[in-house]
Amino acid sequence: MAEPAPAQARLDRIVVLIASNMVSEVCSLYVMRADKTLELYATEGLNRAAVHLTTMRAGEGLVGLIAQNAEPLALSDAQAHPSFSYRPETGEEIYHGFLGVPVLRAGNTLGVLVVQNRTHRLYAEDEVEALQTTAMVVAELIASGELQSLGQPGTQPAARGPVHCRGVALADGVGLGHAVLHEPRVVVRNIIATDIDAEVIRLDAALAAVRISIDAMLERGDIAHGGEHRDVLETFRMFAHDQGWLRRMGDAIRTGITAEAAVERVQSDSRAKMMRSTDPYLRDRLHDLDDLANRLLHQLVGQDLVAPRDALPENGIIVARALGPAALLDYDRSRLRGLVLEEGGQTSHIAIVARALGIPVVSGVEGVAATVETGDAIIVDGAAGEVQIRPPADVESAYAEKARLRARRQAQYRLLRDEPSVTRDGVRVALQLNAGLLVDLPHLAETGASGIGLFRTELQFMIAERMPTAKEQQALYASVFEAAGDVPITFRSLDIGGDKLLPYMPRVEEENPALGWRAIRIALDRPALLRVQARALLRAASGRHLRIMFPMVATTAEFEQARRLVAGEVAYLRQHGIALPSRLSLGIMVEVPSLLFEIDEIAEQADFLSVGSNDLMQFLFAADRGNRLVADRFDALTRAPLRALRHVIARADRAGCPVTVCGEMAGRPLEAMALVGLGLRSLSMSAASVGPVKAMVMALDRERLATALSCELERPGPAESLRPFLADFAERSGVPL
Ligand code: PEP
Ligand code: MG
Repeated sequence: MAEPAPAQARLDRIVVLIASNMVSEVCSLYVMRADKTLELYATEGLNRAAVHLTTMRAGEGLVGLIAQNAEPLALSDAQAHPSFSYRPETGEEIYHGFLGVPVLRAGNTLGVLVVQNRTHRLYAEDEVEALQTTAMVVAELIASGELQSLGQPGTQPAARGPVHCRGVALADGVGLGHAVLHEPRVVVRNIIATDIDAEVIRLDAALAAVRISIDAMLERGDIAHGGEHRDVLETFRMFAHDQGWLRRMGDAIRTGITAEAAVERVQSDSRAKMMRSTDPYLRDRLHDLDDLANRLLHQLVGQDLVAPRDALPENGIIVARALGPAALLDYDRSRLRGLVLEEGGQTSHIAIVARALGIPVVSGVEGVAATVETGDAIIVDGAAGEVQIRPPADVESAYAEKARLRARRQAQYRLLRDEPSVTRDGVRVALQLNAGLLVDLPHLAETGASGIGLFRTELQFMIAERMPTAKEQQALYASVFEAAGDVPITFRSLDIGGDKLLPYMPRVEEENPALGWRAIRIALDRPALLRVQARALLRAASGRHLRIMFPMVATTAEFEQARRLVAGEVAYLRQHGIALPSRLSLGIMVEVPSLLFEIDEIAEQADFLSVGSNDLMQFLFAADRGNRLVADRFDALTRAPLRALRHVIARADRAGCPVTVCGEMAGRPLEAMALVGLGLRSLSMSAASVGPVKAMVMALDRERLATALSCELERPGPAESLRPFLADFAERSGVPL
C-alpha cells in the first residue's frame, strides 16, 4: 500500500489487493466528501466506469447507512436489505454477500470500504475485523490529502475539506495561520502485529505506566499545567482500570494488530459512538476516555504528549482539547496568532492570559482537535466566536481583509498614544490599564496609559502549579514596579474563589460560589494569605508609592479589618528595619451593592474607590456573569445601574475620594462615554481598549453629554436602555465608537 504511485493508481491497486485478500469478487472504496455525499473512488469488480460517477447521500443505501451509523454491516444477501439502493451503472445486481465497514479516523467517518460476493456469503467476525484493520490504513491515506484532486470537479474529501465551526468568543481579535495540535495526534503507522503475545505485553506495560503517571499527578496535585482538573484525572483513573475497555483492546490485538493500532481502533469506535450519543454525561465521559487513549498512544509510540515548544510555525494557531494558562505562556508569543479550545467550561483564566497576549480565542468548539491536522490553514475569529478550518480562498481573503482593517485601526490608535486624554471641553480623563502578568507591562508604553488601575494579583496564583511563595510574590511585584517606571500601580489583593479557582487548592463545595467564600472573605478568614501578600507588596514597593485595593468588600468593617492586617505588616517591617514604601494608599473595590448604601462612610475611610462593574452588575441584577443564559440579559446602560454609578461617583467626589471604574464596561467606548457623562474622571481597561476609548474622549463635549444624560436618566416612563440615546448622541456629535 505504501508504493509510490499516482494516487488513483494506488487506490486501484489497493482495492484489488483487498479483494484478493478477503477472497471477494468486489472491493469498493467510497470517500466521504465535504458536501456529506459518498463518492465511489475506486472499485475492483464493479463497473469501473462508475468510479467518480456513483454517489450516495449520507443515510442512502447500505453504504450511506454504514457511514451514518459508523458501524460495520455484514449481510448474506445485500439486495434483501430494506436500505439497499440499486445503481444500474455499477453492475452490482449479481452480488449478494456483502460486508461494509466505515473508514474511521479519530471517530470521524472518512469513507466506507465494501467487499462483495456473488454467493450468499456471510462474512465472519474475524473477516470484519480484518477489513476494519485495512480501513485504518485507508483512513490515513484519505487524511493525508493525497486524494484531494481525484473526485468529481468542485468536490473534495471531507477529511481535507473546509469546515466552519462555532464556539464561544473568549478573547477578541482575528488570527490567520496554521494549526498546531497542542497534543499532536499519534499517527499509527505500524498496524500489523508480528508477535501477538508481545503486543499484549506492550499494551499492559503502557497501561501500567499511564496508571502510574495519573496516580502521580493526583498525588502531586500539580495539575494546572495541562488544564486538567482533579475530577478529570479521577475519571482517567477509573477508565484506566475499566475491564470492558481493556478487554476490547485485548480482543483487537488478538485480531492481529499492534497495541497502538488496537488502542486507536477501540478509541475511534468509541468516539464514533460518542458523537452519535445525545446523552451529555456520556459524551463528557467519553471525552475523558479519549484523552486517556491519547496518553496511552503516546506512551506506546514514545512520543511526547505535548507539542515541543519549538513546534510553533510562523502564524501558529494552537488547537487543544484543554489548555492551562501556564502551557499557553510556554509558547513563543511572537509566533502565536490564536487559540481554539474544545473545552467550554472554566476558561476565564485562559481568556485573561490570552487577552494579555493579545491573541484571539474561541472555546467550546466540539471535536475540533479531531478535525484539524497540524499544518492546516485555520482562522480564528475571536469576535464572532467562529473558526474556519481549511477555508476556501474567498473566505480566507475576506478574513485577511478584516485582519488588515483591524491592524490599520490599531495603527491609527497608536498615533493617539502621546495625545493627552482630554475632552473637547477640557476635562482630563485618566486612562489606565488592567493587568496581571508581566506580559501585560509592555502595553503601558505601547498604549500611553497613565498607570495600572487594576493589577489582578490572583493571576500569578492561577497560572502556577502550586501556591507562589512569599519570595515569588515579592519578585513579581518588584518586576512590575520596575517595568512600570514612575506611573501609579494599583494592586488588588488576592481575588480568588467564585469562578477564580486555584487548581492546587481544595475546592469548597458551595451552592452559590459567586455569593460564597471568595476574595476578601477568604483573606479575612485565612489572614496568613493576606499577610504574606501584603508583606511581599510592602517589601517590593520600598521607597515608592504603594496602592492596594481589596475586592468584594461588603461592609466598612471588612475594610477596617483588612486595613489593620496591613498595618500589622507595616509595623513588623518597621520593627525589623526594612525599608517601607514612601506612601501607602488603601482602596476599596465597589462590587457589592451593600456599599451603595454606605458609600459616604466608605468614601471617608478609603484612600480611593474602584468600581468593579463586572461584579457590581451581576449582583445588582442578580444575574450570574458566567452563565450564558442570563449574562447578557441585563444592560448596564439602563436606569438602575447608571443611577447607582452616578451615586458612587457623586458621593466619592463630595468626600474628595478618587474613584475609578475598572470593570469591562470602562473599556467599551459607548459605556465609557456614559461613565464620563456621569462625572467619572478615571477609567481602567485592557490594553486593546485604550486607543478606542481615548479617541472617544478626545471627541467628546463632556458638559453637553452630562446635561443630556441627566435629563434622560430622570425621564419618566418604562426603564429602557439608554444605549440608543447614547449612540445617537455620539453620532450627532461626531464621537467615534
Ligand atoms: C469586576 O468585577 O468588575 C472586576 C474588575 O474584577 P474581576 O472581573 O476580576 O472580578
Ligand atoms: Mg470583581
